Amino acid sequence: MITQKYIVVGAGLFGATVAEKLSHQAPVLIIDRRPHLAGNVYSHFDEATGIEVHDYGSHIFHTESDEVWDYITQFTDFNNYTHTVNTRYQGELYPMPINLDTINKLYGQDMDTEGAERFVAKEAKADSEKEGITDPQNFEEKGISLVGRKLYEAFLKGYTEKQWNTKATNLSADILKRIPVRFSHDNRYFITAKHQGIPVEGYTKIVENMLSSENIETRLSTSFKDIEAEIPEDAMVIYCGPVDELLDYELGVLPYRSLRFETEVVENSEQKEAVINEADPDVPYTRTHNFKYYQIHRPEVVNQSTSILMREYPADFSKGAEPYYPVNTEESEKLYQEYVKLAKEKYPNLILGGRLGAYKYWDMDVAIKNALELVERIK
Ligand SMILES: Cc1cc2nc3c(=O)[nH]c(=O)nc-3n(C[C@H](O)[C@H](O)[C@H](O)COP(=O)(O)OP(=O)(O)OC[C@H]3O[C@@H](n4cnc5c(N)ncnc54)[C@H](O)[C@@H]3O)c2cc1C
Repeated sequence: MITQKYIVVGAGLFGATVAEKLSHQAPVLIIDRRPHLAGNVYSHFDEATGIEVHDYGSHIFHTESDEVWDYITQFTDFNNYTHTVNTRYQGELYPMPINLDTINKLYGQDMDTEGAERFVAKEAKADSEKEGITDPQNFEEKGISLVGRKLYEAFLKGYTEKQWNTKATNLSADILKRIPVRFSHDNRYFITAKHQGIPVEGYTKIVENMLSSENIETRLSTSFKDIEAEIPEDAMVIYCGPVDELLDYELGVLPYRSLRFETEVVENSEQKEAVINEADPDVPYTRTHNFKYYQIHRPEVVNQSTSILMREYPADFSKGAEPYYPVNTEESEKLYQEYVKLAKEKYPNLILGGRLGAYKYWDMDVAIKNALELVERIK
């Protein structure tokens, strides 16, 4: 029997934040159809090596928001990990996003900021003229017009085509809004993050701590449809799942990209960093993760000879597959809005939330911020 006033569907960071905040006012039931807490930030510690494996791909917490940082640090401490990424292209590693060192290494030069800026602008202009690009119509033309063909082919084309499983000429020019280059040596991946790190006891523990109140009941391996009939009429449901599935795909399937992960235990791996992007078109995966390098607060874990590597393969999405990245186009946004309308009619006491309910890609901090704002509105 369900007696709680609030029912949160989905125990990811969004649902956990909503449940935690609402539990100060009233009893909350939180459910998840997965057998574990934490949604896509779920991780486990490998018994043999003590390495924290991020089961749904590498997660680095980063935020510009003091509000989010103050909130999340009530439930965990973070280490001082600062994320950097190299891209592997034709057997060499280059800093990513493209910076001064990337440009100098690719062209075998030693330019300073002004020199590199002039050089890239000249390359971009010359290549655009050669290829007759005046008003870029697709991702490829936009990339060439911003950085020239050589940088584009090395760092933008292969990676992007693998991610989307289509030619760059079929992708929108809008994906590249501005020049994806830093003309400095700064190789921090999250350059604007005021706070970043990896939770010292792992991601799952954060959510366990958030849901530890006596006012919160948690049910795992339980889907919304399992409990729908029991929900009291005056209860409020915060639903963090896909809206098309909620409405039995009545209007069609919302498009997503999916992923497939492959893990391998390796001795003396050559990869000495947490993430390498794979730019070569003939390498079928986009990223290789070496998880132990996130554990900088545990030198015994980092310094051991064993690594757990994870290769991330982009995958097509179909109904029933894991939805990772929404494909946000005008058409899909229209379909999503029609679903929102239908959901309001069919479920007047249900609020859509989380990255799935909102049909948006959100970083963890954005999910938490939006959850905090939703609770304020509910109150
Ligand atoms: C590969 C990858 C890497 C990422 N890396 C980063 C990163 O480095 N840094 C960062 O800040 N963010 C990162 N993110 C984003 C991060 O994963 C999300 O911000 C976060 O997971 C959003 O939380 P959520 O609660 O909205 O969604 P989720 O974590 O997806 O939680 C939703 C939960 O709802 C459950 N659910 C859905 N439907 C139902 C139903 N009908 N009944 C019961 N349960 C249901 C699901 O099982 C799931 O557990 C990454 C995302 C991906 C895909």
